[in-house]
Amino acid sequence: MSHDFKSLTRFLVELGTDEIPHSNTPFLSHLIGVYRDLKTWGAPEHLVLAGLFHSIYGTSAFQGFTLPLDRREEVRALIGADAERIAYLNCALTRDSMDDTVESGGEPQLWDRFRNEPLPVSATEFEELVTLHLCDRLEQVGRVGNWDLRRSAWEAMARRLGGVALREWERVHTGAPAAPDATACWLSQPDEWSPLFARWADQHGAHARLHEWEQWGGRRVTALTLGDDGKSRPVRILMAVPHAHEPAPTAALVNLASRLLNGCHIDGAPSPTLGPNLLERALITLLPDTNPQGRARAVRRVWDGELDNDAFLIQAFGESSDGSRLGRYPEWTRADHQPRKVGLIYEEIAAGHYVEPNTSRKSTHTRAVDELFDRYAFTHYLDMHQHEGDEAALLPAGFDDLSPEQQGAESAWAAALLDMWDRNAIRHKGSYSPYLGLPRQEFFREYWRGRCPGMLQLTSEARNNRHAVSGAPTPLARQLRSATLAIEATLKHLAAP
Ligand SMILES: [Zn+2]
Repeated sequence: MSHDFKSLTRFLVELGTDEIPHSNTPFLSHLIGVYRDLKTWGAPEHLVLAGLFHSIYGTSAFQGFTLPLDRREEVRALIGADAERIAYLNCALTRDSMDDTVESGGEPQLWDRFRNEPLPVSATEFEELVTLHLCDRLEQVGRVGNWDLRRSAWEAMARRLGGVALREWERVHTGAPAAPDATACWLSQPDEWSPLFARWADQHGAHARLHEWEQWGGRRVTALTLGDDGKSRPVRILMAVPHAHEPAPTAALVNLASRLLNGCHIDGAPSPTLGPNLLERALITLLPDTNPQGRARAVRRVWDGELDNDAFLIQAFGESSDGSRLGRYPEWTRADHQPRKVGLIYEEIAAGHYVEPNTSRKSTHTRAVDELFDRYAFTHYLDMHQHEGDEAALLPAGFDDLSPEQQGAESAWAAALLDMWDRNAIRHKGSYSPYLGLPRQEFFREYWRGRCPGMLQLTSEARNNRHAVSGAPTPLARQLRSATLAIEATLKHLAAP
């Protein structure tokens, strides 16, 4: 069909789109900009028209204007069924499902936020959606200047499409600040990053103090304290990673140390300041991996969905004598379970004697946290984890035992993480106390009883391996981004001037 541009814009003006702000311009101007750019890119007519209506029903990122879905028929009559279908799909898909697909480079695995179920699309529809999505981004990023937002995902879209889309991506990004490369910044195996901590402690003197503990078998647990001033700073934050099958927060903490000490990411890309004079207001202790013995047994550096979750969780927890996944126990001996294989999560503390680092007081994790607490009396502890589902901020198992003031502070901190993920298109499950009424809640209560008085705790869960419901793999860049955002939200919330 050949379309009448004037009548289409009249329809949009009547809806009031010229008075709604979007990306520092009227919404209508942005819609027309995307329409115009898709034409320049040589897109087929139905895709150009979809560009003009690309967020008409609202998107997961833009809710400033939403036409009710029961008016789809009207839109179809105006721009045709093919164009309306692409516009509708663009409004329905969650940004994170789009990012996952392009970053993992696989088949489309989109998720429908209207129906909360998978959103099946054909290969052609997917290519058109990626084209529309990228064009939409490139039309506004220069105006808004939020270069770091989902950057690796946009770049993956440009590289997937090639041709004019890639040329336009490069043109728009000329002069933009260089972006870190997640693969190059990812250090998570003990021998990859612990020498860096030792070197930085040498180079930065009192600004970076190294701490070490030895595990049974000789592996060393390493921590770095930034802004060491004993207990005098008002905010003193510990961030730690107890589980060896959860490498993304390790990589994020190591990269954070580089950003704070050297002003750049591990790969040398410049890092904008994480807050002026952050290290004069806050003491920050990084404990990126409290079970390097377990981590060193890992057959992979990152769990990005190549193995399915069953195979991955056998690596994580171990394999029983009958081939099933080994259970989760705070403390056990080889004689108790006679496993074929011991999972990464466990720390061997004497021959054939195993503990889970964050539920047994016999672990090196516990020793490190307690000794550091004696020295710095942390006000806050971010316990960093990964799981096979949407992101979450977990309140402590003993949340109900806290004072109303402490509960309020915990909830506000959790909300800061959720808000940060929201703004970066990372879907999350909200915040809650897990394990309520289960034996595991009592393990945790017992584990913390009488320790670290006054220290507020929050657990961040970044997505690992494959999503338990959708089955979508979780690319490395996405894992690093998610853990990094939890850290940034924590620093911003607790230590902003
Ligand atoms: Zn964990």
